[in-house]
Amino acid sequence: MKSVLITGANKGIGFETARQLALKGFYVFITGRDEAKLSAALDKLKNESAYVESILMDVSKDESVINAAELFTERKVQLDVIINNAGILLKEDRSLLQNDLDFLQAVINTNSYGAVRVIQAFTPLMKNPGRIINISSGGGSMTDPVGGWSPAYCVSKTLLNSFTRHFAYELSGRGISVNAVCPGWVKTDMGGKSAPRSVEQGAETQVWLASDAPHKLTGKIFRDKSEIKW
Ligand code: NAP
Repeated sequence: MKSVLITGANKGIGFETARQLALKGFYVFITGRDEAKLSAALDKLKNESAYVESILMDVSKDESVINAAELFTERKVQLDVIINNAGILLKEDRSLLQNDLDFLQAVINTNSYGAVRVIQAFTPLMKNPGRIINISSGGGSMTDPVGGWSPAYCVSKTLLNSFTRHFAYELSGRGISVNAVCPGWVKTDMGGKSAPRSVEQGAETQVWLASDAPHKLTGKIFRDKSEIKW
């Protein structure tokens, strides 16, 4: 049975990705920073599959990620797939001129370093072949025009894209592919009610990359299962 760890999976795109992969027969570890929300999400997922577990893990904190990885080591769990989905978009994120470096650091700490922490701590627990998928955003694209919305968030996703390419290079010898996904604008707490895409659509590309996509695809960014420009 293949196994997957998904960060920030108590709601939104992460939860839906967990649900779809559970239905595809994966053993799913959902992780999140809030015990009560995580346990509610686990109860919902248990209606769909017996092979789901929850692990408390705040990706913004070194200790929390290391503790979670130690738990996996003690239990000798090996992972086929890691999906770095946890992310924040703060309402105060309107201007790089007005938001100080602590603000920028907080956004980057979760959206970019969060994935780095998880990859560093969990890669030793991955099988060969393995797959890592980082949930990015079109907002991080260097080829699209700058949109004037949530600049700290956009910068954090550009950084995540760059980490994706470098980890793909470093992990190629370990048989681990590393890719990024732009889910599009999705109806979630983050995306809001006006977003045109459903969570089902928002989860599709990472579900494909975790399961049916050719393993040789690495160091790329995808939207709707097709490669897009960085
Ligand atoms: P969401 O509904 O706000 O869910 C975000 C998830 O991340 C929640 O489970 C949240 O947990 C978790 N999270 C935040 N900080 C965390 C931390 N420090 N440790 C662990 N978990 C943490 O957002 P979403 O729309 O599903 O977004 C999922 C991913 O897709 C994000 O990376 C986002 O940037 C990306 N994305 C979304 C859209 C969109 O239109 N929705 C577009 C492009 C990219 P809590 O419940 O505890 O806050």
